[in-house]
Amino acid sequence: MRKESIHKLNNVSSRTGRFVLYWMQASQRAIDNDALDYACEISNDLSLPLLVLFVLHVGYPSANSRSFTFMLEGLEETEKRLKERGITFLSKVGNPVDEVLKIAKNASVLVSDVGYLRHQLFWRDSIARRVESPFFVVESNVILPVGQVSKKEEFSAATIRPKIKRLLIDTPKSPAIESCFSKVLDIENFETVSLSTFLKDLKFGDDAPAVSSFKGGTAQAIEILESFLRDKIDIFCRERNDPNSDVLSNMSPYLHFGQISPSYIAKKVIEKRSPCEEAYLEELIIRRELSMNFTMYNPNYDRFEGLPVWAKKTLNEHRGDMREYIYSKEQFENCSTHDPYWNAAQMEMAFTGKMHGYMRMYWGKKILEWSESPEVALETALYLNDKYELDGRDPNGYAGVMWCLGKHDRAWAERKVTGKVRYMSSAGLRRKFDADGYVRKISRLAQST
Ligand SMILES: Cc1cc2nc3c(=O)[nH]c(=O)nc-3n(C[C@H](O)[C@H](O)[C@H](O)COP(=O)(O)OP(=O)(O)OC[C@H]3O[C@@H](n4cnc5c(N)ncnc54)[C@H](O)[C@@H]3O)c2cc1C
Repeated sequence: MRKESIHKLNNVSSRTGRFVLYWMQASQRAIDNDALDYACEISNDLSLPLLVLFVLHVGYPSANSRSFTFMLEGLEETEKRLKERGITFLSKVGNPVDEVLKIAKNASVLVSDVGYLRHQLFWRDSIARRVESPFFVVESNVILPVGQVSKKEEFSAATIRPKIKRLLIDTPKSPAIESCFSKVLDIENFETVSLSTFLKDLKFGDDAPAVSSFKGGTAQAIEILESFLRDKIDIFCRERNDPNSDVLSNMSPYLHFGQISPSYIAKKVIEKRSPCEEAYLEELIIRRELSMNFTMYNPNYDRFEGLPVWAKKTLNEHRGDMREYIYSKEQFENCSTHDPYWNAAQMEMAFTGKMHGYMRMYWGKKILEWSESPEVALETALYLNDKYELDGRDPNGYAGVMWCLGKHDRAWAERKVTGKVRYMSSAGLRRKFDADGYVRKISRLAQST
């Protein structure tokens, strides 16, 4: 753990309590979790038991059966692994701020992890203002603390890359904590919620059902990573832009829920000594941590106002351009555009919970081209992304969708509707890979589901 990853959010210096509380939110794992390790370290120092709390918040933005099922599968494993380490796990249903404050009344110290979206920041701030114990947070889902890499919003990968690379060389990490103070805490009076019962009774009545393509949990994440390292990484740099070729790592759903740590993935990739190591780490570290920089420093990360000046200017200049096609949110959602490639991409996401990375770019660019305005395009793309992608509702999702409108990019040749924002065409897809083969692959997949 790097000392720069730890932040104290209030001025309370000490308090007597029955336990150390770790409010697990963004790092939903029992291993390779710096926030958990830090909480363990404090519980060892104070000779107090450690209590891990997770709050199941059914009102979480865009929560549905798909995302909740994946998350609960992971949490069941995390609970089991924590128990094996002698750490008590408590789950509650409700609003995170209220539930954390209730349990923290008996805590000597409160520790949490860090998510970079506005509701997560709001929760932490609300708790920091009212909690009576010292409150620390640890940035456990990034390789480098976001504020240490840069104190401002970065323009692009080119500007953040040298800062990240310099710090990766300069800052050593201390080893993980192996054991926690093992006195088991009596939590009978806390009424913990059974995760399996909660999962069984879960009824969102929505149309984003759970998917069988990805099962949640750290063990699954490690198994998928191992198969990627064994069979795919050496061809990742050559074939990653071909959606017919299954060479991506599929780590994004697991990273999103914090079921696996990016440092663990990076360590395993480096140990493999693959010729594609650099290409992979560029995505996992540079691109991913650029997204966190974006959502942390740009309060308009999901709004037109959050785009760079040149992109807003050009899109404003082309607002009145005649669109060849305009589709409603429902038409997009029902895969009813004129374009078989776009429809296949939407179908892949709806059926599997994960669209191929290359198709995501085309998918987002076309929503911009076929919507009545950039604002409507943003709303549609984020709605679909957050509803169907298992990795949705993530800094990467906001940066990815905004990239389709010019974020982290430069101006290109000017065209109607999209102005100077980079354009993608169906002919371009066909030049890069067998696009019709992709449509056939997805229709077979949809028929078999
Ligand atoms: C319109 C659009 C929407 C997107 N929505 C999301 C989203 O909701 N959640 C999400 O995690 N990613 C999103 N991305 C980024 C990227 O497409 C996915 O991270 C990637 O496809 C995930 O698959 P993988 O884990 O198999 O990737 P791999 O290619 O195996 O990459 C490994 C890891 O690197 C990171 N990574 C890869 N590509 C990018 C990228 N372009 N930007 C930032 N990090 C990257 C991810 O954490 C990924 O898990 C979006 C991109 C676009 C253009």
